[in-house]
Amino acid sequence: MSQASYPDLNTYRLSLFVQEDQVLKSVMPEAVALGLPPISVNPDAGQTLYLLARMIGARKILEFGALAGYSAIWLARALPREGRLISLEIDPKHARIARSNLARARLADRAEVRTGPALELMAEVSEEAPFDMIFIDADKESYPRYLDFAMDHVRLGGLIAADNADGHGHAHEVLEPGDGRRGIQTYNRRVASDRRLVSHILPIGGWLAVSVKVEE
Ligand code: SAH
Ligand code: MG
Repeated sequence: MSQASYPDLNTYRLSLFVQEDQVLKSVMPEAVALGLPPISVNPDAGQTLYLLARMIGARKILEFGALAGYSAIWLARALPREGRLISLEIDPKHARIARSNLARARLADRAEVRTGPALELMAEVSEEAPFDMIFIDADKESYPRYLDFAMDHVRLGGLIAADNADGHGHAHEVLEPGDGRRGIQTYNRRVASDRRLVSHILPIGGWLAVSVKVEE
């Protein structure tokens, strides 16, 4: 067999490891045509979330922020048949589209989208704890509150991941009071220094902050 040649190293890496099927390929273009913003994780981050969930044998996953279900499909595919993904989504239109995409991906048996503000849904969701993995990707100003919830509801050895740890390119700057991205800065500082966590930022997509809970 002759050796393949790739235009650059990153294309080489992605071509070898990141495979989107037809459902994943169509989710965001269709969502954008319906007026949703193009703000899902990218395929690179999707494969990373999938890998992380598989690494810990996740059976129960909680997501903050479903949008059209793109990241939810990656996460739910990492689950065993009897596994469970709950995704919290404030916008009923987003929730409806996410549900339909999860059904199209034949994941409706293990993935569920709950509609409402995540801060309000947390009370009922806490009854389903402990989670093996919690993925935070909703409104950025609430990241610290979602982290509080995650610290209390992820199992020992479980993962807490958050998207957009780069603060949309501004995490390193001094931001105005009231700027939602300050929530991301607070989040990053906290996961970097909390002794109960081992953490790092993977600079993939909009950067994934990834933490494993090593102490109760
Ligand atoms: N995780 C998705 C992208 C999520 S985009 C993916 O990668 O495919 C952020 C989503 O969070 C949007 O759909 C938005 O409606 C939702 N959201 C914003 N504020 C929220 C809140 N307070 N509670 C729950 N969802 C919220
Ligand atoms: Mg995001």
